[in-house]
Amino acid sequence: MAVKAELIALLVARTGCSAADCKRALQESDGNIQSAVESLRRRLVAKDARVAQLAPDGGETEPSRRIEAREITQDLPKQTRPDPTGTFVPKELFDPEHPTALAIYCSDGRFTRAVEELTDVHLGNRRLDTLTIAGGPALLTHGAAHPTETDVVRRSASFLIRGHHIRQVVMIAHAGCGFYKDRIPEPHADDRMKAQQIEELQMAARWIRVHHSGLEIRLYYATYDGDRIAFEPVAIDD
Ligand SMILES: [Zn+2]
Repeated sequence: MAVKAELIALLVARTGCSAADCKRALQESDGNIQSAVESLRRRLVAKDARVAQLAPDGGETEPSRRIEAREITQDLPKQTRPDPTGTFVPKELFDPEHPTALAIYCSDGRFTRAVEELTDVHLGNRRLDTLTIAGGPALLTHGAAHPTETDVVRRSASFLIRGHHIRQVVMIAHAGCGFYKDRIPEPHADDRMKAQQIEELQMAARWIRVHHSGLEIRLYYATYDGDRIAFEPVAIDD
């Protein structure tokens, strides 16, 4: 579809991406600015990751690339959404092959897109099976979870690992988790809660190791500082 020159110019000014990239992003998103911005942002993040890998000192990238979606979209013209009652056909195509990675993490939607970015950009799994439930990996252990919860989640994880021939399992706990706040008696100081979350993350990894050999397991603890999320790697054996 044809996209308006002023929209391209606006995106170029806001993102620092080339006019060709901005035009392509707008075309691919059928002119939806929000989707175009998201796509450009993902590209910038991926580029950042590649530059960081290539940099001899391991890393600082140009600050100009560190762009937040909301900075870009500030003051952009409001667009009306298409009719939500009709059939929707996504751009994503069906692939009959099952992904070989499984991510087990908390349902907390404040982290969902960041987790997808971690597994895609950082770990190289563009597609993945997911097991998302309040508490995430905690439900593979007999710590804060109830035995009935543990039973259901262990069965689901085993079903996916065996049935879909999973080779990598990524498990993530996160700061400010409502599941733990609900289960740990007051006062749940941040440090105490984090220590329990990490211990149960490691217990979950050990359960997977015992019941499913040969898997690559990666553990992370997600934190946030202002609007910046970071995934700290966690060793399985501490
Ligand atoms: Zn949570």
